[in-house]
Amino acid sequence: MPPRTKRSGLDHRAYRRAKNRLRQNARTCWLCGKWIDVDLPSNDPMSWTADHVIPRSKGGHLLGELRAAHRSCNSSRGNRPPERIDQLPTTRQW
Ligand SMILES: [Zn+2]
Repeated sequence: MPPRTKRSGLDHRAYRRAKNRLRQNARTCWLCGKWIDVDLPSNDPMSWTADHVIPRSKGGHLLGELRAAHRSCNSSRGNRPPERIDQLPTTRQW
């Protein structure tokens, strides 16, 4: 087991776990409010992605709060703050 990047490896594992759990629970895009088909291939623009509420480029943590979003919504949002946050339930079970 290589000793380097041990901590970030753990972070990524925790991130994957949080993301997988979100994927099971959150099937609604927090940006457009529409249903997301989790069976779509990951290169599909309407496929499921986990979006950081605070973009990592804005200082958000890898393990910060995640919301489900379409790939296209996620990428078109970029680093702008969300313009609309509908009353989506917050998944905070972890
Ligand atoms: Zn969307």
